[in-house]
Parts: sequence; structure tokens; C-alpha cells
Amino acid sequence: MHIKKQRLLTPGPTPLLPRALHAMMASDIHHRTQDFIKLYPQVLSDLKEVYGTRNDVLIVVSSGTGALEASVSNFFSEGDKVIVLSAGKFGERWEELAKAFRLNAVTLKAEYGDAVAPARVAEALKANPDAKGVLFQASETSTGAAHDVKAIGELCQSTQALCIVDAITGLGTMPLDIDGWGLDIVIGGSQKAFMIPPGLAFLSVSEKAWQRNATATLPRLYFDLKKEKKMADKGESAWTPNVSHILALAEALVYIKSIGMDKLVENAQLLARATREAAVALGLRLFAPGSPSSSVTAICAPEGMDSGEIVKGFRNHFGSIIANGQGTMKGKIFRIAHLGYFDFPDLFAMVAELEIILASKGIPVEFGKGVAVVQKIYAEAALPALVKA
Ligand SMILES: *Cc1c(COP(=O)(O)O)cnc(C)c1O
Repeated sequence: MHIKKQRLLTPGPTPLLPRALHAMMASDIHHRTQDFIKLYPQVLSDLKEVYGTRNDVLIVVSSGTGALEASVSNFFSEGDKVIVLSAGKFGERWEELAKAFRLNAVTLKAEYGDAVAPARVAEALKANPDAKGVLFQASETSTGAAHDVKAIGELCQSTQALCIVDAITGLGTMPLDIDGWGLDIVIGGSQKAFMIPPGLAFLSVSEKAWQRNATATLPRLYFDLKKEKKMADKGESAWTPNVSHILALAEALVYIKSIGMDKLVENAQLLARATREAAVALGLRLFAPGSPSSSVTAICAPEGMDSGEIVKGFRNHFGSIIANGQGTMKGKIFRIAHLGYFDFPDLFAMVAELEIILASKGIPVEFGKGVAVVQKIYAEAALPALVKA
């Protein structure tokens, strides 16, 4: 009771893989020496394997938003028409980027908590045959809703539009068949399912996208992906990288490969389902029940309660850090992450904490009711023999 371990339960940054954190200590190597040139190509090749694509996969030194910006500045020209799916704060970031780079955006909005249906994307592509790109989130972290990436990718395949996916919380939490579904740009970030601190972002780039890059005229310098690719082919990065992060990523990728990307996805899916079912068992409402993502679960605060009270309860009683809602969702929802280095004991604790916090606020709670749901889902997945008996 008097010792509170800090537990990060937020959808980025996420808990760090201990061996990746330790690897950061060895960062006293120079990025233009053989030491780095031995390390970097291996990291790029492991990243490509984890992405599961034949496309190029590049690393840029920035938070995720830098890669979103690169995916605009490298593949479009001023005035190009793009279709932007906007279902939350990160969709709104695509809108801001399109505006900043003077693209002509056709925006498909969804209410917070909903996703944009593929049928609306099909209609928009039909009505706008001149569209050069479709920009969207695989998982909209601000609401906990997921888009149908497969359907949207396949719609883009038969058009000139590049399919540009902010998969920063999609990678490692949902299946993404980059080559099969025609996903031209798939963006990832280090502080999400990759289990390392913020500071690196990733992009896979298809042949269709490289062809567009050859004629795209928006200004770019730091995030010039062609330069990045040229240097990557020589085993180097374009600019001075955060070597400590590259070392951490090397370790994290070895770990992810050892369990398998599909298993990392399954892990997140199980934790997400258990969280949803536990929340419902405790009488709480889900914010995105229609198309919930497995990266993060957004739960509505009980009627009449500010979700900040729950966030504070987690921090003050237990040292656990969970996320409030963003923007107008602040005070209404709280968000629990499942992406990356999360396990069932994390969730047993989280749900037990939630029960205590609700009870402390005068909400009638039967202790253990939510935890039992999580235990049952664990047992069904990991101990089927026990469940059958
Ligand atoms: C975290 C996140 C980003 C990137 O945000 P940064 O703060 O720039 O790292 C972008 N999109 C989504 C969906 C995210 O969850």
C-alpha cells in the first residue's frame, strides 16, 4: 500500500522491454564507423521481416508525426487531391498535415468512437477519380476504434491513389498484409508496440509510391525518403541517428521475432477482448463498441463522473498511469493500452485496480467480477484442457 510501482498502461509511450533498455547503454559508437554499419542493415532487415513486406522499410529519427509528415511531403505535389479519413484526434492530424502542405483534402468524417466505413471510401474514390492518396489510421488511438485496413487497401489498389496508413498503433495489434492488401505506405512508431522509447518512426514504401515520389514536388529535406533509402542501401542513415534507439530497436526486434509478429498481435487482441468484457461485466460502457481496436480500449466514465477521477485514482492509489480522453473526449473516457510489452498479469492488476477505484467513488462493485472475466479468457486461451475439464 505504501509502495507503488509505476506501471505505464498508456497507448504510447508503452512499457519498455528491459533488454532493449539495457542495450541503450552501449550507444558510444559513431554512426559513420563499421560498428554502426554492422548494426544498421541488420536492424532494417529485421524490421522488414517484422513488417512482413517485400517493400522497402525505412527508419526516420523523429516521433511518429515526423513519418506522417514524410508520407505527405515525399509523395505529393501542391494542390494534389487526397481523401482523408478523420475519426479522431489522429485523423485530424492528417487534416492538419494536408492543409499545411497545401493538398486539396476531401475529408470523410466519422463521429468519435466510430470508424469510416469502406463503402464511403469506395464512393469517394468513385466521385474523385483524380484523388492521389487515401490517408487514414489503422487504429485511431484517441477513440479506440479501428478501420478496415484490408477493405480500404484493396479499394486503392485499382486506382492511382496511394494507400497511406498511419499504423502507429496498428502494427503489432492487428493483422496487416502490406503486400496482399496493397498498402503503399505503412507508418510505425518506436514508442508503441515496438517496446522502446519515443524517438524513431518507420515507413514501408511500395513500388507504386516510389514511382509517385519521382514526380512529387512538395519541399522536403530532413525527411527526404529517397536520400534515406540511398543511405540505407549503404548501411547508413541519412543524418545522425539516435544510436541508443537503434540499439534498443535491434534488441526489441530480436524479441518480437522470437515470439512472432502474429503472436504479438494475438496477445494484444486477447488483452483487448478481456478488457472489453471485464469493463462490460463491471457495468461500464465502451466508447468504440462497433469496431474496437486491439491497441487501446476506450471506456466511458460512469454517468456523472469525470474520467479524470479514474485516471487520478489509478495514479494516486497504485502509481498506474492510464490515459484520459483527448480534446473534447477529455473527462468522458479513459484509455487502457494493450500494445507491445503487456501481459495478462498487467491486466489482472489493472482490472483489480479499476474495481477498487470504482468502489472508492461509491459505484457498487462486486470485487473480483472483472478480474474473473480476464482469468477466464486467459484460461480459455492458454489452458483449454483445464477449461474443458
Ligand atoms: C502515437 C500516435 C501517433 C504519433 O504521435 P507522436 O507523438 O508524433 O509519436 C500518430 N498516430 C497515432 C494513431 C498514434 O497513436
